[in-house]
Amino acid sequence: MSNGWRRAALVVVLAVGSSCAASPGAAGRVKRAVPAADLERDVPDHRPVGPMILVTVDGARWQEIFDGTDTALSRAPKRSAREIVPNLDRLARERGAAIGAPGRGVIRATGPNFVSLPGYTEILTGRAPIGCQDNTCPTIAVPTLLDEAFASGSSVAAFGSWEMLDRAVSAYPASFPVSCGRHDDPRIDPWPGSGDFRPDRLTAAAALAYLEEQRPDVLYVGLGEPDEYGHRGDYAGYVRALSYADAFVGRLFAALDRMGPRGAETHVFVTADHGRSREFKHHGGGSPESARVWLFAAGPSIAARGRITSNVERHLADLAPTLRTAIGLGGAHDRGERSLDLGWPGASIDELFRPAQAVASPIAQATPVPRSPQ
Ligand SMILES: [Zn+2]
Repeated sequence: MSNGWRRAALVVVLAVGSSCAASPGAAGRVKRAVPAADLERDVPDHRPVGPMILVTVDGARWQEIFDGTDTALSRAPKRSAREIVPNLDRLARERGAAIGAPGRGVIRATGPNFVSLPGYTEILTGRAPIGCQDNTCPTIAVPTLLDEAFASGSSVAAFGSWEMLDRAVSAYPASFPVSCGRHDDPRIDPWPGSGDFRPDRLTAAAALAYLEEQRPDVLYVGLGEPDEYGHRGDYAGYVRALSYADAFVGRLFAALDRMGPRGAETHVFVTADHGRSREFKHHGGGSPESARVWLFAAGPSIAARGRITSNVERHLADLAPTLRTAIGLGGAHDRGERSLDLGWPGASIDELFRPAQAVASPIAQATPVPRSPQ
């Protein structure tokens, strides 16, 4: 695709609005802070970046991810993390690294309200939202990491179970394929969600099929069922949904393995938008502990080192700078002057990277650890 065509497409996109509107009237609430031409101009080299896949698992707290089931909630024998999320466990041990494990530093949502849309906005823009602190925020007004990748010439696609996720995905709705929620399809039962929620198995199937057939340079997949079961107080359902998300990660890697060199070159990041409150069912500003999240990463620039230590507190805002470092996307990310709604930009999580890729940082250093005995 030529840059001229791409610029024209972005301009047209601004006119037509979203094909994946979260609710009636959502497109009308879209703010336009940055003209598309500005984004094109600010991406200096116009070369495709990637391949990279980002997966988020809504409301999946760190406890089960690293320590397995909570027997007080399950009222059943303990199941280890290796049992309930075997693919994430293997990812950290054999292909990459994990951030946020107990005793190894903290990665958290900035908040102060630890709910989904602010979390996804922080992940995808690299800045903690100041204005948006609930799930009714309008579509993001500044370009996201996905917008930057698209403007660089990359093919980009995003799939989400939660219909509101599209508000955080792109400031230019419909510039690249985005499919969030069940699109008002009455044949799809939104359970365990509600409204226009699309069950994770359908989101996962759509994303995997797109990956295999289209091989996008950058793919984002947002799964949502763990949070839905959590709010229902259904711990068994929550753990099943976690295991399903983990199986999806396993299927992603199987697909990448079938792609040969391109698969081997693909960076994969898996994280969550927020954690859960101490009593498990809820999350938000009244539960500071629900800020804490986790991150798994794998790819050619990331050494297989298991659970690594962060010597500084990490935030969801650090995700976008980290992904930019991983895929070599530069130049377009420092746009704080363009929005009063977002805080300071995050910093690349350099302790994830092999020394050759890491940007020198005096305060964040990797600490290799032995493989987990778990
Ligand atoms: Zn929730």
